[in-house]
Amino acid sequence: MNKTIKDYAKLVKESSIKTVLEYSFRDIEKEFDSNFYINLNKEKINIKAEQLDKKARINSHLFGVPYFEKDNIVNTDIPTTAGSLFLKDYVSPFNATINEILSEAGAMMVGKTAMDEFGMGGTGLFSFNGEIRNPYEKNRIIGGSSSGSAYAVATGMVPFATGSDTGDSIRKPASFVGIVGFKPTYGSISRYGLMPYAPSLDTIGFFTNNVDDQKILAEVTFKQDKKDFTSINNPFKYENKKFDKKLKIVQIREIYDLMPEDLKKEYDNFTERMLAVGHTVSFESIDINILNMLGEVYMAISYAEAASTLSNLQGVHFGKREEGDSYENIIKHSRGNNFSKTVKKRMIIGGYSLKSENQDIIFLKAKKIRRIIVDRIAEIYQTADIIVLPPSSGIAPTVSEAMKSASGDAAVNGVIDSALLLANFNGMPSITIPFIKLNNLPIGINLNANIKKDILLLDFAQQVEEILKNKE
Ligand code: GLN
Repeated sequence: MNKTIKDYAKLVKESSIKTVLEYSFRDIEKEFDSNFYINLNKEKINIKAEQLDKKARINSHLFGVPYFEKDNIVNTDIPTTAGSLFLKDYVSPFNATINEILSEAGAMMVGKTAMDEFGMGGTGLFSFNGEIRNPYEKNRIIGGSSSGSAYAVATGMVPFATGSDTGDSIRKPASFVGIVGFKPTYGSISRYGLMPYAPSLDTIGFFTNNVDDQKILAEVTFKQDKKDFTSINNPFKYENKKFDKKLKIVQIREIYDLMPEDLKKEYDNFTERMLAVGHTVSFESIDINILNMLGEVYMAISYAEAASTLSNLQGVHFGKREEGDSYENIIKHSRGNNFSKTVKKRMIIGGYSLKSENQDIIFLKAKKIRRIIVDRIAEIYQTADIIVLPPSSGIAPTVSEAMKSASGDAAVNGVIDSALLLANFNGMPSITIPFIKLNNLPIGINLNANIKKDILLLDFAQQVEEILKNKE
């Protein structure tokens, strides 16, 4: 069993931050070959540890607790690369708000984790420093794009890690390695200092080993931030009391019908367990024609936003500058030599769909379909409390299976594998927790609640976690 935040806090209390970090770095450095991290923060964090060890303890669950940060969240101590060769040596002149908050709470950032370049991908195979594989079976993908963060928590090297989720990047890898991955309500955690992929969908969240740790982190990090104009006021109070609410749980009929039989059986079993503790479980519909388009709508919106937000990466103000006899050629060479195929593809398609003659038929149409989806989910929540979704159609695919999928990078093919996108479209809180094992490999279950119902969602998720644990 991996250690939780509270376990680490106890270790710190019994020894010192310095000692805990020494152990952590010993484990971490052994894992160099797994490519899960890009840079470690050893020197600076050790100095901080020495200083904090001398000071009086502050009253915080996170005091002295080590964590990893996804490498698209900027930090002034070590480079922030976003998994891209283009930014290999980039050190930010300012700190992300999430870093400031965690640091104030006494958490210790030990390093930055590898990721699919700029968050574009769902495999862990597209970080410039090498592939990150599933620790359960090395011929399988771990999922992405927050691959290194999922790896660090699943292998017990740290009790939590930050991630970012634009389509499923926290909640799908969490499923593939049997840990908890939470994407809060859009705007609850400041995105100031998160390198954007698609800002209308991007959300910072966490990987942990249990739901209780997510509550600890939510209480500390849900803060409205003037520096992020999309940030909202959604305070979270940490409480751990008996959950006795009776909820209306909903499954989506069309998604359920498409599930493979073995998975369907497990969801039926889950329904029985929910009924047994007094919840109701029923089905609601979302038009299958709309569900069939989820992946395409996501691509149209996110690629267009990416083409726009990454337009500052020219090799002039930021990033690796290559030679060129004109401004345009500098950009061409800088991008040409330092972006991977996936990033180039997405930026070209995104740019194409933003051209004035294409906007109506691609980008704006996708936004209209997004609106239909958002409205339908709102309708469902008029009576429902929880929507249950499968994070994937099965266990983590093998690397060759993943590479064979339509584009080899998105891993959002088919309705079931795209279901997690729903929560990015409307911004609802969404959590994946461990569910079952098939052939000894984990699959999670994904639970969602209405916007700003993060407390209800985590309370319920904790109850489900308990129920599923007793099954074993
Ligand atoms: N896997 C999706 C993609 O390929 C989502 C990535 C994300 O959430 N950052 O874009």
